[in-house]
Order: sequence, then structure tokens, then C-alpha cells
Amino acid sequence: MLLLHTCCAPCALPILEYLDNYYQRRNLYLRSQLALYFYNPNIFPRSEYEKRKLEVKKIAKIYSIKVYYGAYDHNKWLTYLSKNLFLSPADYKENSQRCQQCFFWRLRQLFIFAQMNRFNQVATTLSINMFKDTRFINEVGHKLSRQYKKHPIKYITFDLNSQRAYQREKELLAKYHLYHQHYCGCEFSRKKI
Ligand code: SF4
Repeated sequence: MLLLHTCCAPCALPILEYLDNYYQRRNLYLRSQLALYFYNPNIFPRSEYEKRKLEVKKIAKIYSIKVYYGAYDHNKWLTYLSKNLFLSPADYKENSQRCQQCFFWRLRQLFIFAQMNRFNQVATTLSINMFKDTRFINEVGHKLSRQYKKHPIKYITFDLNSQRAYQREKELLAKYHLYHQHYCGCEFSRKKI
């Protein structure tokens, strides 16, 4: 069973469409093969977090799949960044060390949650995002996976072209009338708009 970390509904849409087709070809139901995990304490402010959470709830309903919601521990996330960065988080550009720590924090929690709930595969919607450092994200995913030896948790990536996935994302957003955010998530990325 796959636990798919979902950063937001837009990024999840092309992946869910792809997986739905993949499982249908094998006479399997998507809902019996995966669940979503919305764990994104990086999102700020809380109202924006709730908005994105609601959109994920909508896509879970469209595909009849279960969704788990992680804690909104934004202060813990901020403290972790501050402790693990040389400069203040605000002093880093997007896709720099600040984002690497942010990816690591969320992926580590994905594995912890998967282990607690007996999932044997994990993946993240971040892994095909054309605006993110997907090489780094997937390296962290594979590295964390190697730490789970007794009850293995495989880190999965998707055979999807990130540019085509982004195009499809826009089409699916229009089809389902879903909200598309205009900044990555944290207060530091929000300052840019
Ligand atoms: S810009 Fe995005 S990935 Fe980077 S720290 Fe902020 S929320 Fe995380």
C-alpha cells in the first residue's frame, strides 16, 4: 500500500490521474492501493494552510481515496530550520538549503507516519515538480528508505515528465475548478508576491 505525501491538490492531480490509469490497466482500484498524506507545516499563514487542505480533501473525494492529515506544527518546523541553517531562513532564496531542510523535514515525517501505519511504499508529489530540486528530493527519499530495514518502506518515483505533468495539472485544475496557490508555501516564499 502506497502513502502519497501530498504537498497540494494541483501537484497531486496529474499523479493521481497517472496512477488511476496504471491501476485500472491491472484491474485494481486506486482506492485500494494508496492513501494521501497531507503533511505541510511549512504553509503560512494558517488560513492558507486550511485552504490547501480543503482542496486536497476535494480531490480525495473525486478519486474516492483516503486522506490522512498531519499536524500543523509550523513553529516546530521553523525551529528546525533555524537550528539547521547557518543564516536566518529569510536570508535564503527558493530552492536553496532552506528548501532542502524543508523537504527533509516533511519526508522524514512521511516515513515515520508510514511505518506507524504499516504502509510499505511512500512517494511525494514534490518528486515531479518542475520548480523544485527533484534530484535532491528523490535522493533524500531513497536515503530514508534505506534506513527502514526490518519493515522495508520503498520510496517510489513516477515515470512522468514534469513539464507535461505541469500542463496536465493546469487542465485538471480548470476541469475541477480548484484553487491554485501563487507561492510555494512558507512566509519567506510569500514575501515574493
Ligand atoms: S519556499 Fe517552499 S520548499 Fe522552500 S522552505 Fe518555503 S515552503 Fe519549503
